[in-house]
Amino acid sequence: MGRADIGIWLIGARGGVASTAAVGLCALGRGLCGDAGLVSRLPEFAPLEPADWGRFVVAGHEIRHVPLAGEAMRLATESRAVAAELVRQCEDDLERIDARIRPGTIYKAGTAIERLAGPDVPRGETPREAVRRIQRDFARFVETEKLAHLIVLNVASTEPPVDRSAIPATWKELEPLLDRPEACPLPASSLYAVAALEQGHSYVNFTPSLGSAPAAIDELAQAAKTRHMGCDGKTGETLLKSVLAPMFRRRNLGVMSWVGHNIFGNLDSQVLDNPANKAAKVASKDRLVGEILGYHPQTLVSIEYVQSLGDWKTAWNHIHFQGFLGTPMALQLIWQGCDSLLAAPLVLDLVRFTEVAWRRGHVGQMTFLASFFKSPYGVAEHDFTLQYQMLEAWAAEGAAR
Ligand code: NAD
Repeated sequence: MGRADIGIWLIGARGGVASTAAVGLCALGRGLCGDAGLVSRLPEFAPLEPADWGRFVVAGHEIRHVPLAGEAMRLATESRAVAAELVRQCEDDLERIDARIRPGTIYKAGTAIERLAGPDVPRGETPREAVRRIQRDFARFVETEKLAHLIVLNVASTEPPVDRSAIPATWKELEPLLDRPEACPLPASSLYAVAALEQGHSYVNFTPSLGSAPAAIDELAQAAKTRHMGCDGKTGETLLKSVLAPMFRRRNLGVMSWVGHNIFGNLDSQVLDNPANKAAKVASKDRLVGEILGYHPQTLVSIEYVQSLGDWKTAWNHIHFQGFLGTPMALQLIWQGCDSLLAAPLVLDLVRFTEVAWRRGHVGQMTFLASFFKSPYGVAEHDFTLQYQMLEAWAAEGAAR
């Protein structure tokens, strides 16, 4: 008899990243596409025996009432990001996933996100009621599909930043606030994290939203003997920064300024057009240059919504640096990537590596996944190569057991 299935629960299940990940999973399972972009398919990770694509069952939470297959088809027709024929071949699978998607929560998610929510999304729940409802959805999925394990992955819209000083340091102090909506500082992303971790599921935060970042929620994960990681997938411009900034440092070339201008036109960038939501993303993209260099040059990150570009993101970076004899020089680069296609394989990799971590009994933050994130929990290292070595070391450590 084969091993039991693994559940993937996507928060934001009908968004660009989620629908691309769903199409990708169906296509991989049916042998309709290759391995390009998938880290977990590299030969160095083969000894981990990551789960086959066919072992994953997808469900999730959403706040918009739109058909998943239709959203996937929009990536083909509007953004020309995937082949329409490929989406058509996956349509039955997408409809099965769609039938498992449940209404999410918009508790303290901010007005830009509240505006997206359909009438079936409950309003006026206490945080505790939202957590219990989410947990019932998880439990029903695990039971119906007879899942061995559930991995909850946040790919929902970016929430505005939260004042972290208002969050109690321990779970004992934070937990009672779930019954006090006026005092509970946690946004929706953290309620999903609490719901998942309390039940022993794994949780991964692909967004800059608060999620499981608070120490009190990490404590909950440890007490429940489960695992979590975040935050904010490192897919494009920031990936380049984490590769290039170490080069400038190692050649002792003094970076004077680093400017990044991003334009794209999908739903994510529409939400990020709201200044509050944008603040969380800009902070996450801006932090690492100074941390890698060890000093803080002038940096500027802008993100603008340009509707006609759809899912295609253009990031222009201008790096002004000082060479020998103080001569100023510049590197300019233009990255043109399809946002969802950059993110979706990483989502699938994160799920596969998390499944391995679950099998190994890993508890707490999965710091070995740092290379996947712009702001990795519990890791001060931002150099991509060194982060990648952490993943290799973790893989080798298991193989040596
Ligand atoms: P998207 O706007 O296409 O999808 C987000 C989905 O989440 C939407 O369907 C929305 O209705 C849903 N949603 C919003 N709030 C929700 C809630 N509280 N509960 C349940 N569903 C909710 O965005 P996307 O392009 O798919 O990106 C998803 C997230 O991943 C964003 O936060 C983005 O910043 C982050 N991210 C994306 C990339 C990338 O695409 N390259 C890289 C790093 C991080």
